[in-house]
Amino acid sequence: MTILPEMLSQIAIEFVKQRTKSFAQNDFGNFVRHDVAIEAKKHLLYLPYELTVKASVGSGNWAAVPWLGYFDPLITDTATRGFYVVYLINAQTEEIFLSLNQGTTETYREFGELRGREVLRRRAIDLSERAPEYSNLFDLKHINLGSAESLPLGYEAGHSFGRKYQAGNIESQNFFSDLENMFAAYEALVNRGGTLPTAAMNEEAGTNDIEETRRYVLSRRIERAPNIRKRVLEKRGTVCEACALDPVRHLNYTGPLKNTPLEIHHARPISGMAEGESRRYKIPDDFIILCPTCHRLIHRQVDPANLVQLKNLINFSYGPK
Ligand SMILES: [Zn+2]
Ligand SMILES: [Zn+2]
Repeated sequence: MTILPEMLSQIAIEFVKQRTKSFAQNDFGNFVRHDVAIEAKKHLLYLPYELTVKASVGSGNWAAVPWLGYFDPLITDTATRGFYVVYLINAQTEEIFLSLNQGTTETYREFGELRGREVLRRRAIDLSERAPEYSNLFDLKHINLGSAESLPLGYEAGHSFGRKYQAGNIESQNFFSDLENMFAAYEALVNRGGTLPTAAMNEEAGTNDIEETRRYVLSRRIERAPNIRKRVLEKRGTVCEACALDPVRHLNYTGPLKNTPLEIHHARPISGMAEGESRRYKIPDDFIILCPTCHRLIHRQVDPANLVQLKNLINFSYGPK
């Protein structure tokens, strides 16, 4: 269990030298992208939810800052948007920063670079304040990535809280307990709405109750995550489970499965779940396939997991009489 800190140290120590070589077909680049990512995944086996892992030294060109990121598919699958857990490496000082950080590229695209960094700094504070019992376990001070390039300046601005390690001198027990705490912090932030302002969440959920709002937002995120939707559709079929609308038969739908005009409904009563309680969803058991109309209706029920109640409410004009 000591190999990940050693690999990160190796990246930090060798990066400056490797950067002078050609990027294409570079063994070191392959080591980071493949070996480091595979090693990093091993530490996710016991987590009760899924995270995707990516390690990068740049795409097409050497990056200023190599990184290893962990992404919750409910929030993002890329380092360019959303918020996520990442190791950022300052190759000049050979320092490694564990960081709760944010997508720089998309923020720059919306606000421009200077304003974008202001926005990232503000959201970084919001994130640490939304999970104070976790952010308090970490350092909140500014990180220095040793580069004046646009992306690293964005990573510095987007840093919410984390830990600094010196390459070659990482105490592995601390390293792994930090990582475990960081995953718990990430999960809490996902459950609590991340960077979404409370007022916007309340409006979407149609209630001012904060717990209810958070559960609603989480449930909708689960339903909208493309990778979850795809797997549920593949396993549960493509007919509305309430009214029996079959887009292929009834609407002459001929497009790809992923675009079928059906929605996935997260039917596990998330209202009964305590925050942080085990797995957020089971595929496909916790889901129901519904057409948009039935989906709206079921969300208006007192118990939005009760399919029988919904079936009693509607008239089966598609299914067998
Ligand atoms: Zn329906
Ligand atoms: Zn739903």
